[in-house]
Amino acid sequence: MRHRTFRHQESFGGFLGHGAKLGCSLCFKSFPKGFGEKQDYSGFDHDNWVLRTNAEQRRRVNRLSRAQSKAEREQLESRFGIRYTILLELEYYDAVRFCAIDPMHNLFLGTAKSMFKLWIDSEHLSRPVLTQVDERISKINVMTDVGRIPSEISSNYGSLTADEWKNWTMLYSIFCLTGLLPDNNLKCWQTFVMVCRTLVKPSITMDDIRKGDHLLMKFCREFEALYGGLAVKPNMHLHALLKECILDYGPLYEFWAFSFERYNGLLGNFHTNNKNPDVQIMRKFLTCSFADSIQPPQEFPEHFAPLLPHDKDEFYSMEGCKQLYFASTSEMG
Ligand SMILES: [Zn+2]
Repeated sequence: MRHRTFRHQESFGGFLGHGAKLGCSLCFKSFPKGFGEKQDYSGFDHDNWVLRTNAEQRRRVNRLSRAQSKAEREQLESRFGIRYTILLELEYYDAVRFCAIDPMHNLFLGTAKSMFKLWIDSEHLSRPVLTQVDERISKINVMTDVGRIPSEISSNYGSLTADEWKNWTMLYSIFCLTGLLPDNNLKCWQTFVMVCRTLVKPSITMDDIRKGDHLLMKFCREFEALYGGLAVKPNMHLHALLKECILDYGPLYEFWAFSFERYNGLLGNFHTNNKNPDVQIMRKFLTCSFADSIQPPQEFPEHFAPLLPHDKDEFYSMEGCKQLYFASTSEMG
């Protein structure tokens, strides 16, 4: 499974970018754009959207393959909202459902961040108000397993991590904004916070999914009414389709990019000589995965136990992996 954010989907999943008229990878809703105007992602009449299907994607790509010239192909790509991708050669590949929306980008790096920026740009959060927000942040004591967010969010909000935006949304924001943000703006934001509190749990029920989806749509419509259709972001359009991904892949914890980013960090720690680093990282990763899958010998623990890593972190740490790597290559040699 790969992750879809509007930024990365273009060539990989066979979709056009979010700047295209048919820029959504889950449905065929069109996003009109006049010359010199902002693209319009507004409209949440979800029931009238025609959802993409694997069969329809493949049918359209077949038509693309019969184009006689590059110009004709490009014209068809734009009309159909799809491009060829080599992944379609895999019979089991579902061109729509195998590209999940990533909730980490969608909710936290997407909407939470853009809302904050919107309040600053529209001066709902002016300089003196932001100073009060900072003061409130510094007063909050969170539990030790929750990371603090920078106390000067006013000057650091551009570089907050996804985890910090998650904490801001779910723990800090309502306390920090009450009485400072205009009431109608705060109410709209509260709906979004309720969505996150409903959906961001390691285990959720069908009722949570229905409630989360209902609130998410309520938030989108309130946002559109409050800030205007042109302020609607592509991520908000995707909010309407997040439910489909949860039904396919389970709770957000199961498929959001937090775990992938952590894995990236582990892989990034592997030493390479900067010559084809991707190949070297992949080799080491496969070696580690292979070694991880072997049942360690039980017979002579006094000899083997000290050689084996004690937990996953140690296993994938540079030293652990290096040892395993050299051990496995010398064995092969
Ligand atoms: Zn769509």
